[in-house]
Amino acid sequence: MLARLGDAGLKRTPQRVAIVRELAGDLTHPTAQELFERLRPSMPTMSFATVYNTLDALARARLIAPRALSPGATRFDPNVRPHGHAVCDRCGAVADVAVQADGEATPELGSDLPRGFTVHAVERVFRGVCGACAAVDPGARPS
Ligand SMILES: [Zn+2]
Ligand SMILES: [Zn+2]
Repeated sequence: MLARLGDAGLKRTPQRVAIVRELAGDLTHPTAQELFERLRPSMPTMSFATVYNTLDALARARLIAPRALSPGATRFDPNVRPHGHAVCDRCGAVADVAVQADGEATPELGSDLPRGFTVHAVERVFRGVCGACAAVDPGARPS
């Protein structure tokens, strides 16, 4: 991803390199705010706008994928290949799920697509309660 910063029209600044490094190894699909707070101790002069604008440019260049899977701010995914997500209804945690059928629309799945609609990918979302939330309160159900 670092080598392709130029493809996104971004000069390779230390701040952008730090943002890319932080996101590339991250499986939690962080928000811009989360990345900003994590990087702030090592990059005290970096602004939130720098983080946000860098993520936005990377997303437009399709080097990362913005995900709106749970309520709140958009999360950013370093994995741009089609894949599924497990989303916790309680804390909003998002985790990748390898789904074999991803990337192809089966006839049953695609049978009521709008006329003329071209499918690029099929991505599945598994909604439920994550292990950490279930451990805190196994009986609670989202209302
Ligand atoms: Zn949870
Ligand atoms: Zn993902």
